[in-house]
Amino acid sequence: MKTVCYYEIANIRPRNDLINSTHKTILGRQCQITELVVGQRGWLLVDVGDDSFGPHRIALSNVLSVVGDDDLIIETENTIYTLKRITPKEEQKIIVRNAIRCNICGDEIESKQRHDFVTCICGACSVDGGSDYLRRCFKSPDCFTDISVYKSAVD
Ligand SMILES: [Zn+2]
Repeated sequence: MKTVCYYEIANIRPRNDLINSTHKTILGRQCQITELVVGQRGWLLVDVGDDSFGPHRIALSNVLSVVGDDDLIIETENTIYTLKRITPKEEQKIIVRNAIRCNICGDEIESKQRHDFVTCICGACSVDGGSDYLRRCFKSPDCFTDISVYKSAVD
Protein backbone atom coordinates (compact mmCIF):
# COMPACT_ATOMS: atom_id res chain seq x y z
CA MET A 1 0.00 0.00 0.00
CA LYS A 2 1.24 3.43 -0.87
CA THR A 3 0.94 6.25 1.63
CA VAL A 4 0.55 9.68 0.17
CA CYS A 5 2.57 12.29 2.01
CA TYR A 6 2.08 16.00 1.85
CA TYR A 7 4.87 18.52 1.98
CA GLU A 8 5.37 22.23 1.93
CA ILE A 9 8.02 23.51 -0.44
CA ALA A 10 10.06 25.29 2.20
CA ASN A 11 13.07 26.30 0.16
CA ILE A 12 14.25 26.32 -3.44
CA ARG A 13 17.88 26.87 -4.29
CA PRO A 14 18.73 26.99 -7.98
CA ARG A 15 22.34 26.00 -8.70
CA ASN A 16 22.75 29.10 -10.87
CA ASP A 17 21.14 31.24 -8.12
CA LEU A 18 18.46 32.45 -10.55
CA ILE A 19 14.97 32.15 -9.08
CA ASN A 20 12.53 31.77 -11.97
CA SER A 21 8.77 32.34 -12.10
CA THR A 22 7.94 28.68 -11.45
CA HIS A 23 10.07 28.75 -8.32
CA LYS A 24 8.25 31.88 -7.17
CA THR A 25 4.87 30.27 -7.82
CA ILE A 26 5.51 27.01 -5.99
CA LEU A 27 7.56 28.25 -3.04
CA GLY A 28 5.66 27.82 0.23
CA ARG A 29 2.94 25.75 -1.46
CA GLN A 30 1.55 22.37 -0.50
CA CYS A 31 2.74 19.50 -2.69
CA GLN A 32 2.80 15.74 -3.10
CA ILE A 33 5.56 13.72 -4.70
CA THR A 34 4.33 11.83 -7.73
CA GLU A 35 7.71 10.54 -8.87
CA LEU A 36 11.11 10.65 -7.28
CA VAL A 37 13.67 8.16 -8.56
CA VAL A 38 17.37 8.97 -8.46
CA GLY A 39 18.65 9.31 -12.01
CA GLN A 40 15.25 10.23 -13.46
CA ARG A 41 13.18 13.37 -13.75
CA GLY A 42 11.17 14.09 -10.63
CA TRP A 43 7.54 15.23 -10.55
CA LEU A 44 5.67 17.12 -7.89
CA LEU A 45 1.95 17.73 -7.68
CA VAL A 46 1.72 21.29 -6.43
CA ASP A 47 -1.22 23.30 -5.17
CA VAL A 48 -0.51 26.56 -6.96
CA GLY A 49 -3.57 28.27 -5.50
CA ASP A 50 -5.56 27.87 -8.69
CA ASP A 51 -8.87 26.43 -7.52
CA SER A 52 -10.40 26.00 -10.96
CA PHE A 53 -7.61 23.75 -12.28
CA GLY A 54 -6.50 22.17 -9.00
CA PRO A 55 -2.94 20.97 -8.31
CA HIS A 56 -0.39 21.29 -11.11
CA ARG A 57 2.17 18.67 -12.11
CA ILE A 58 5.58 20.28 -11.97
CA ALA A 59 8.65 18.68 -13.56
CA LEU A 60 11.98 18.71 -11.79
CA SER A 61 15.28 18.08 -13.52
CA ASN A 62 17.11 14.75 -13.04
CA VAL A 63 17.17 13.74 -9.39
CA LEU A 64 20.67 13.32 -7.98
CA SER A 65 19.86 12.53 -4.36
CA VAL A 66 17.03 12.47 -1.83
CA VAL A 67 17.96 12.88 1.82
CA GLY A 68 15.71 12.92 4.87
CA ASP A 69 12.66 11.32 6.36
CA ASP A 70 9.84 13.63 7.44
CA ASP A 71 11.57 16.55 5.79
CA LEU A 72 13.33 15.96 2.49
CA ILE A 73 16.17 17.59 0.64
CA ILE A 74 15.93 16.78 -3.04
CA GLU A 75 18.98 17.57 -5.10
CA THR A 76 18.33 17.76 -8.80
CA GLU A 77 20.63 18.70 -11.65
CA ASN A 78 19.43 22.30 -11.62
CA THR A 79 18.01 22.93 -8.19
CA ILE A 80 17.96 21.89 -4.53
CA TYR A 81 14.48 21.67 -2.98
CA THR A 82 13.70 21.46 0.72
CA LEU A 83 10.34 19.87 1.48
CA LYS A 84 8.78 20.00 4.91
CA ARG A 85 6.28 17.29 5.88
CA ILE A 86 2.88 18.81 6.65
CA THR A 87 -0.69 17.89 7.46
CA PRO A 88 -2.63 18.51 4.25
CA LYS A 89 -5.25 21.22 4.19
CA GLU A 90 -7.85 18.49 3.60
CA GLU A 91 -7.01 16.86 6.95
CA GLN A 92 -6.61 19.97 9.03
CA LYS A 93 -9.15 20.17 11.78
CA ILE A 94 -10.93 23.09 13.31
CA ILE A 95 -11.22 23.01 17.10
CA VAL A 96 -14.89 23.25 18.06
CA ARG A 97 -14.41 22.43 21.73
CA ASN A 98 -11.03 22.49 23.50
CA ALA A 99 -11.65 20.39 26.60
CA ILE A 100 -10.34 17.66 28.88
CA ARG A 101 -11.64 15.60 31.81
CA CYS A 102 -9.45 15.21 34.86
CA ASN A 103 -9.02 11.52 35.67
CA ILE A 104 -8.38 12.33 39.32
CA CYS A 105 -11.23 14.70 40.30
CA GLY A 106 -13.52 14.11 37.32
CA ASP A 107 -13.80 17.81 36.54
CA GLU A 108 -14.47 18.65 32.88
CA ILE A 109 -12.77 21.85 31.84
CA GLU A 110 -12.92 23.80 28.59
CA SER A 111 -10.83 26.67 27.25
CA LYS A 112 -13.18 28.98 25.36
CA GLN A 113 -10.72 31.57 24.12
CA ARG A 114 -7.08 31.79 23.10
CA HIS A 115 -5.90 32.96 26.54
CA ASP A 116 -8.57 31.24 28.61
CA PHE A 117 -6.41 29.11 30.92
CA VAL A 118 -8.63 26.78 32.96
CA THR A 119 -7.49 24.39 35.72
CA CYS A 120 -9.51 21.53 37.19
CA ILE A 121 -10.72 21.57 40.81
CA CYS A 122 -7.85 19.43 42.13
CA GLY A 123 -5.22 21.31 40.14
CA ALA A 124 -3.81 18.28 38.32
CA CYS A 125 -4.42 19.52 34.77
CA SER A 126 -5.24 22.62 32.75
CA VAL A 127 -6.40 23.57 29.25
CA ASP A 128 -5.63 26.67 27.22
CA GLY A 129 -5.76 27.94 23.66
CA GLY A 130 -9.49 28.09 22.93
CA SER A 131 -10.22 27.29 19.29
CA ASP A 132 -6.73 28.43 18.21
CA TYR A 133 -4.53 25.67 19.60
CA LEU A 134 -4.56 22.85 22.14
CA ARG A 135 -2.39 23.53 25.16
CA ARG A 136 -2.38 21.15 28.13
CA CYS A 137 -0.57 21.50 31.43
CA PHE A 138 -0.53 18.48 33.72
CA LYS A 139 1.24 16.78 36.57
CA SER A 140 1.38 13.56 34.56
CA PRO A 141 0.16 12.86 31.00
CA ASP A 142 -2.21 10.10 32.16
CA CYS A 143 -4.08 12.36 34.60
CA PHE A 144 -6.55 13.58 31.97
CA THR A 145 -8.70 12.38 29.07
CA ASP A 146 -9.05 14.56 26.02
CA ILE A 147 -12.70 15.26 25.21
CA SER A 148 -12.11 17.90 22.53
CA VAL A 149 -14.39 18.13 19.52
CA TYR A 150 -13.21 18.93 15.97
CA LYS A 151 -14.59 19.44 12.53
CA SER A 152 -12.83 19.20 9.19
CA ALA A 153 -11.37 22.42 7.79
CA VAL A 154 -12.96 21.72 4.41
CA ASP A 155 -16.68 21.43 4.94
ZN1 LIG B 1 -8.46 17.39 38.72
